[in-house]
Amino acid sequence: MTDRRLHPDTLLVHGGTLRSPFGETSEALFLTQGYVYASAEEAEARFLNLSPGYQYSRFSNPTVTMFEERMALFEGAEVARATATGMAAVTAAMLCQVKAGDHVVAAKALFGSCRYVVEDLLPRFGVACTLVDGTDLDQWRAAVRPETVAFFLESPTNPTLELVDIEAVAKIAHDGGARLVVDNVFATPLWQQPLKLGADIVVYSATKHIDGQGRCLGGVVCCSKEFLDTYLQVFIRQTGPSMSPFNAWVLLKGLETLPLRVERQTATAAKVADALAAHPAVTRVIYPGRADHPQAELVKRQMSGGSTMVAFEVTGGKAGAFAVANALEIVKISNNLGDAKSLITHPATTTHQRLSEEARAELGIGPGLLRLSVGLEHPGDLIADLTTALDGIAAERAAAE
Ligand SMILES: *Cc1c(COP(=O)(O)O)cnc(C)c1O
Repeated sequence: MTDRRLHPDTLLVHGGTLRSPFGETSEALFLTQGYVYASAEEAEARFLNLSPGYQYSRFSNPTVTMFEERMALFEGAEVARATATGMAAVTAAMLCQVKAGDHVVAAKALFGSCRYVVEDLLPRFGVACTLVDGTDLDQWRAAVRPETVAFFLESPTNPTLELVDIEAVAKIAHDGGARLVVDNVFATPLWQQPLKLGADIVVYSATKHIDGQGRCLGGVVCCSKEFLDTYLQVFIRQTGPSMSPFNAWVLLKGLETLPLRVERQTATAAKVADALAAHPAVTRVIYPGRADHPQAELVKRQMSGGSTMVAFEVTGGKAGAFAVANALEIVKISNNLGDAKSLITHPATTTHQRLSEEARAELGIGPGLLRLSVGLEHPGDLIADLTTALDGIAAERAAAE
């Protein structure tokens, strides 16, 4: 195991490496379903957990183990388990710990599919769910019941980049005998460490910044050894949301460059946010890291960096937002994020289309809102692309008046 006192940059290059007898420099890709045993006795011992080693790649695989170990070291978690997608990580982390009659509390502002899991899926199996405004601590407190087992939140939220006070919510969860699960995708493991703030379980869509180059899907659950042994390991082993060794290999290589990419993307996002705020066709910019973020004080306390994401509202509602998105040349229209390529999304008609108009309004998702995932392009080129697109709607407006 790699020394946990090393800096993240070092751990992300060397952490968890299992070198085969060939002494390869780059991590090996073990594209195998199963493993062979030297004797029937060894197979028996392995199935009794008396002899260490691999049995079947639904349970574990050396390439996947390397990714899990590297993630655990980065996150400062005792253990991590990889899954096929981010949603498999969220679903496994929630389902493995609940039974009929239990209750969970979740923030309303969630990634669409996460909201489906807590709001629609869990209740079908007798697990009640209360949705709260994540920024209102009194609502979290009031929602706790004797049968509450878990809290779930994301921060910053998608797409309005609102923060939830993780430390305060963790304390409310623990006082009520519940565990706190945090979806940390938007913050990235570089800028926010929920376990240090008191969270019990952290989940990621590795599809986003961990890959960072738009290639494959993946997810990961970071937790304590106790949570793994009691709930998660058996759930993953028996229900099979396992990560492909190939994807684990891609994501392992992604981790090596994560700090470089996320630092650069964040620095560019800050510049882009300032440029957007200065444009007359932009009515609002939400960026954790700008002094005008509604929770600037909490950003300082809870996060060590801004974000690679910027949300902004343009004049002209849906038509204005569509005109801007369609006029962009470098920035591509996509619902994905965390990529090397800058991507723009119109949440009201895509990622949050499933919600009612009132639910969207409650979350601050208006028709003119755009969500920008800042990539690795030159900041000057991105700002020029966005400015040209925004100038277009400003000119149209002036002509109409
Ligand atoms: C993308 C995303 C997910 C789901 O991840 P997949 O890898 O697409 O399954 C969950 N939460 C957040 C915040 C996300 O951005």
